[in-house]
Amino acid sequence: MDEMRRCPYCDEEIRAEAIRCRHCRSRLSAFDPGAWYRDRPDRRVAGVAAAVAQALAVPVAAARFGFIVLTVFHLVGVVAYVALWLLVPFRPGDEPPFARVVGVVRRCAAELRDAFKPRRQRGPGSGPHGDVPANHVTC
Ligand SMILES: [Zn+2]
Repeated sequence: MDEMRRCPYCDEEIRAEAIRCRHCRSRLSAFDPGAWYRDRPDRRVAGVAAAVAQALAVPVAAARFGFIVLTVFHLVGVVAYVALWLLVPFRPGDEPPFARVVGVVRRCAAELRDAFKPRRQRGPGSGPHGDVPANHVTC
């Protein structure tokens, strides 16, 4: 049996993980970043509409319809879909695609910075023998 709790608005018993009370239709929880991911059973393409539907506590069909309607207005729906695809992680705990790209760029920038640093400013441990070529970049 699922865990139950009481709705703070109507005092009826509801499931603990409910985000909307089935008795009074009150929205119960604020946005939960842990539930913000795209790999859901009702996803069709990238899972963006399914993630938005979950976050806004609306049916997936309504989220898809919203993206289609926004696409009619200067392709806002397509831009929002791509932006959310970049920002919403695929699985809970994953990095979003945008964060992965930023991480790779940061690592490359740090390696380039180290590669072009004058040799005397490098600390100990810059290489096993301290003789890494100045233009040695691994990414
Ligand atoms: Zn209620």
